[in-house]
Amino acid sequence: MTDAVHRKARNYRWEDVPELPYKEDERALFRSITRRVLFSHRHMQAELRYFELAPGGFSTLERHEHMHAVLVLRGHGRCLVGEEVKSIELHDLITVPPMTWHQFRAAGPEPLGFLCMVDARRDKPQLPSAAELARLRRSPEVAAFLDGEQDAR
Ligand code: MN
Repeated sequence: MTDAVHRKARNYRWEDVPELPYKEDERALFRSITRRVLFSHRHMQAELRYFELAPGGFSTLERHEHMHAVLVLRGHGRCLVGEEVKSIELHDLITVPPMTWHQFRAAGPEPLGFLCMVDARRDKPQLPSAAELARLRRSPEVAAFLDGEQDAR
C-alpha cells in the first residue's frame, strides 16, 4: 500500500484497495466473504480491514491471542463471541477478547460489512477441535447459530 492520503470510496469499495483472499488456510470453514486492507503501514501497530459477507455468508469460527475491534458499517447479522450469540446492527461495536471463539454471520437480504481493527503482528487463528465444537454446541442457541438457522432473517 502506498502513502497516498486520500482514497475515494464508492459503494463500500475504495480506490486502489484490492479485494484479497479471506484466508490462506484451506481448512477454514467460511462462505461468501471478501477482505480489504484499508490501513496497513510499517509505522502503525494496528491494521484496519473491511470484511463483507454476502447474504448467507459467514466468517470462520476461530480464536487467537490477538483481539478484534469491529464496527458494523453495512447491513446486519449475528455474531458469536464466546458462548454468547448477539444480533448486530448498523454501527454496533463488537470487541472480541483474546482466545475467545468468534464467528460473524450475515442476516437478511443485504451484505454484512464491518471494519475490523487488529494488531499488525498477530498470532495465527486456531480452529475448534471436534471436542471443542461439541462443547460449544451444548448450548442450543449456539448450535442454532452455528447451523445458520436464522440467517434468512
Ligand atoms: Mn478472528
